[in-house]
Amino acid sequence: MSRFVVLFGPPGCGKGTQAARLKDALGVPHISTGDMFRDHKARRTELGQRVEAILAAGQLVPDGVTNDMVRERLGRDDARKGALLDGYPRNTDQAEVLDGILRDLGRAVDDVVVIEVPRKELIDRLVKRGKDSGRADDQDPKVIENRLEVYRAQSEPCIGYYERTGKRLHRIAGVGAVDEVTGRILGALGVKG
Ligand code: ADP
Repeated sequence: MSRFVVLFGPPGCGKGTQAARLKDALGVPHISTGDMFRDHKARRTELGQRVEAILAAGQLVPDGVTNDMVRERLGRDDARKGALLDGYPRNTDQAEVLDGILRDLGRAVDDVVVIEVPRKELIDRLVKRGKDSGRADDQDPKVIENRLEVYRAQSEPCIGYYERTGKRLHRIAGVGAVDEVTGRILGALGVKG
């Protein structure tokens, strides 16, 4: 089942966890812009040093930088048949750029999966992940609040964008066991797990 799937939802909704499971079922690479930025940061690349403070504050990396990174990634061979995009797009300008990138490749976004989780549970999960993983942007309650606000103000409008542009949009309850959520997503996508 090769296609381009956008995995969408607020910080802490489980995009990364689900993507790791879905990529094998879908047979496409998992492309996480957050992971890519953290990898740059860990390797102390020029890009990593440029984005470090932005990540720590829970702000969005400037679109130009993010779009170029995704364009390069989607141009690689392993993404020819499809990809699971996690954390991108994060605003409607990025959503339009993604449409353009895929158009240039003769493809399009096939499905948008929105993982929905109540705000209180998101905060609990992010605080726990901060303790378990030490991730810099999960340490400070103010940064967590800020990321949720950035999501509400800048990212959530992407859902309306995808509705307007007629994409297949699947709203999935992101609560319950991890396996159950995976099952719901695969069911919505019509893929056997
Ligand atoms: P989460 O969704 O839990 O906040 P991510 O790993 O998806 O975590 O993203 C971590 C950070 O990486 C974001 O807060 C932001 O600073 C940066 N980032 C990731 N994706 C994008 C994007 N598409 N545009 C701009 N910044 C991004």
